[in-house]
Amino acid sequence: KDDIQDNGYFATYNHYDIHKDMLQDTVRTESYLQSIKENVDIFRNKIVLDVGCGTGILSMACVKYGHAKMVIAVDMSDMIYDAMAIAKENNIDESKIVFIHGRIEDVTLPVDKVDIIISEWMGYFLLFECMLESIIFARDKYLDKENGFILPDDFSIHLSGFHSEKLYHEHVGYWSDVYGFEMNTITKNILADGHVMIVPAEDIITSDCCIKNLDVYTCSNEDLSFTYPFTIQVLKSGSISGFICHFDVNFAKNLIQKVHFSTSARATPTHWKQTVFYLPRLYSVQEGEDIHGKILCQRHPHEKRGLIIHLHVFDSKFKFYLE
Ligand code: SAH
Repeated sequence: KDDIQDNGYFATYNHYDIHKDMLQDTVRTESYLQSIKENVDIFRNKIVLDVGCGTGILSMACVKYGHAKMVIAVDMSDMIYDAMAIAKENNIDESKIVFIHGRIEDVTLPVDKVDIIISEWMGYFLLFECMLESIIFARDKYLDKENGFILPDDFSIHLSGFHSEKLYHEHVGYWSDVYGFEMNTITKNILADGHVMIVPAEDIITSDCCIKNLDVYTCSNEDLSFTYPFTIQVLKSGSISGFICHFDVNFAKNLIQKVHFSTSARATPTHWKQTVFYLPRLYSVQEGEDIHGKILCQRHPHEKRGLIIHLHVFDSKFKFYLE
């Protein structure tokens, strides 16, 4: 059953549309290119492993801008066949990129160790898709432990409170009157799900709390499950509609030129947008008030690539439990 589910996962990457969405995310793609171009001394004459090469954009950049000795580009999706043709189309020396079709967990690489792992593995809420496990696998099996680099390497997930009558009405309120019919059955599902959307920065009404730090040099599969008790402070009196999460990405450790980007509502939008969890109703809040809660993130017991997120708010006026 696991395999069937995972074939579905890789099939989503067979089509060029999803790759176009990622490539057109200039914050994402330019940050990766910048991290290569500005750290040529790290890449020059090195062996690089690109975990999940897609169209081959990062592999080609490691050769063209980083002057890597060799890049091993691995992808389980059929897009890798296009990547091979794309490398030819760009006159990349065939000896410079070795393309391998398969799961990083199953393939045999032409070398025992690599100097650098580069990968764009991040999902919504950073951890959806659980591709991080494949990076951990590649790190433990192939990366030179002493001198190896992982790009990017340092991540954080953040939570804050937001309010938007408009978004709340569009997504939650809508179901209470659909052509005169109540569809609150669906409201339950809406409240149980995380929603990926762009939230206007001015809708954020609380302070920001970092709920997770992740160092890819040292993290383990257990990092996909975590609990964090949070406190956020209300900065603007009025109502609260729910909680919003985003993540930040750093190309940092041991790099002379560090690169950073954020998927925050306050930064330029990316294809990850933000992840929103709605409250069952609007609650009123006062400036200066603290909201105490706890967020739990766990691997989904049945869906290989899913996560379960529980949100508890302890303050007595919020009588709810979001799952
Ligand atoms: N590096 C490309 C594509 C990133 S999308 C870019 O930056 O544009 C992530 C890619 O990783 C997808 O093409 C997906 O098929 C691949 N992938 C995910 N898990 C993988 C695994 N375990 N083994 C091989 N490829 C994987």
